[in-house]
Amino acid sequence: SERTLILIKPDGVSRGLVGEVLTRVERKGLRIVALDLRTLDADTAKSHYEEHAQRPFFDSLVEFITSGPLVAAVVEGHRAIESFRALAGATDPVNAAPGTIRGDLGLEVQANIVHGSDSTYSAEREIKLFFPDLA
Ligand code: ATP
Repeated sequence: SERTLILIKPDGVSRGLVGEVLTRVERKGLRIVALDLRTLDADTAKSHYEEHAQRPFFDSLVEFITSGPLVAAVVEGHRAIESFRALAGATDPVNAAPGTIRGDLGLEVQANIVHGSDSTYSAEREIKLFFPDLA
């Protein structure tokens, strides 16, 4: 079993898609082990997206991800990292397959509803960043 960090980004929360996303996660068989609604400060957002610091969209991404409440969760299960990224679909919702969260519900590359850790290394780092007290 494996853990991953998922975010329902501010667009997902403001559009009322929290239940829809968590339903898909649970129906897949992933187990929610931590769950929290919060608004990120700029330092936490920059730390979360540190690997994108040199990208042209970095400032815009930080502004977006801090723009309102998001839902952070840790989910656990068989190959949870890859399983959730398959549920989420491609980064750009225009290219994401129908049946995926982004393919069914999204249209814009920045406001693409969800985040999921992309490796065991980033999952460990991101879980510590969002839930430092989780055992
Ligand atoms: P995440 O890491 O959030 O799960 P991802 O791994 O699918 O997404 P990355 O390439 O790591 O995608 O980009 C991180 C996030 O930055 C994307 O989810 C999206 O919100 C935003 N992003 C990516 N590309 C662009 C772009 N060209 N313009 C604006 N925002 C972008």
